[in-house]
Amino acid sequence: MTGKAVLFVHLRQVALVLAIGLVVAVVAYAVATHTEAIRAFTYDQLRDRGKAVALARTRGFMKLESQHYMLEYEAPDAAVAPMVLRTAESFYGPVTRDLGYTPHGKVTLILYPDREELSNSFGWASTQDAMGVYYTGVIRVLSPRVWTGTDDPVRMERSFRKNGPIAHELTHYVLDYKTAGNYPRWFTEGLAQYEEHRLTGFVWIEPESTFNQNLYTLADLTDRFDRLANQALAYREAFSLVSFVSERFGPDRLNALIDDLASGTSFDRAMKQHVGLAGDDLQKAWLTWVYDHPNRWNQ
Ligand SMILES: [Zn+2]
Repeated sequence: MTGKAVLFVHLRQVALVLAIGLVVAVVAYAVATHTEAIRAFTYDQLRDRGKAVALARTRGFMKLESQHYMLEYEAPDAAVAPMVLRTAESFYGPVTRDLGYTPHGKVTLILYPDREELSNSFGWASTQDAMGVYYTGVIRVLSPRVWTGTDDPVRMERSFRKNGPIAHELTHYVLDYKTAGNYPRWFTEGLAQYEEHRLTGFVWIEPESTFNQNLYTLADLTDRFDRLANQALAYREAFSLVSFVSERFGPDRLNALIDDLASGTSFDRAMKQHVGLAGDDLQKAWLTWVYDHPNRWNQ
């Protein structure tokens, strides 16, 4: 090889290394600047797949549509299905307005005729007594025939509206679609209870959820909400935290926080920005507020 040829090969190698380096840098930059968009896209895809799986299991169910919902149900609920839809419609406007977001398309509701079928749809033990569940883009509801304790249509409708799960589960649904899952688990449970309380007056209180005991820390709620032994307490603390943010700083701050979650800001950063608190500072301020209202939380 002549000296010129060696130089040429050398230059080609340098050019190749530079080209590879450039491609790596561009990809790294794209990933770094679009991490949240990639996370949100992946989340939406997984949720859509979960929804498709849920709907594949309801083949043979009957269907009833309203302006904002698609309801699937089985024969034993033919008489209550229109009432369930009517009630669901009545919460749609308030919840979407309060959360500042209208989902695209119709909300999927599946009505299960008994606890066992509802539990089987998840693989839960049938002893768990949920009346409704939001999971992967679908609101699942236990038939009001099972738990309202009345056959009278008027009483059943009143009870379903007052004590039923629609306001709560629809809040989960709207927050989930608005933010593509960008929230800690305790926040969606706190917000769902807060909205439910605002619209129906319902509050979930159990003897074991009194605050007159050692409380879970904010870190406990954030890191392992579903694994905490006293779920009634975990839920009540979540409700209390969201109530604290809204009452102490104003509902506008709570809405601004949710808007930031929707644009991909991390929860701690959004809290810091709109409430001025995160982590230990948030826990301290929240507990001070709680102990300033002992009668409200110690019952
Ligand atoms: Zn919930």
